[in-house]
Amino acid sequence: MERRALVIEDDLLNRMFLCATLEGHGFRVRSLDDGELALATAREFKPHLIVTDIQLPHVSGLKVIASLRKDRDFRETPVLAVTAYVGPGEERRIRRAGADDFLPKPVSIKPLMDAVARLLGDVPAEAGASPIATQP
Ligand code: MN
Repeated sequence: MERRALVIEDDLLNRMFLCATLEGHGFRVRSLDDGELALATAREFKPHLIVTDIQLPHVSGLKVIASLRKDRDFRETPVLAVTAYVGPGEERRIRRAGADDFLPKPVSIKPLMDAVARLLGDVPAEAGASPIATQP
């Protein structure tokens, strides 16, 4: 079965990395460098997974996630957030917006694909699976 991933990331190198890694694992990928068209693109592309940066021009990733969650079609779509800045309260804000999980940047292949597998139910979910949650 074809699986589709929507990647929203304004940083070119990181966007290329996310797209290439997901494509290398069999996903068909659509990418955006801004959050403004996220909902419209998701409606058309019907992704099984959405990976979004938080710091985006014009519309923050938090707003993108929240708007997806308000849409009946994307209420349940797994959303993985990636963010460079993980300060106090950031994890809470990201999860409250509706992200299922998040990874700190720089993202590397194994943590990314482990998170994707968890979100898509390819492997059993572990308690405290977020890498942030396990940091002291
Ligand atoms: Mn960014």
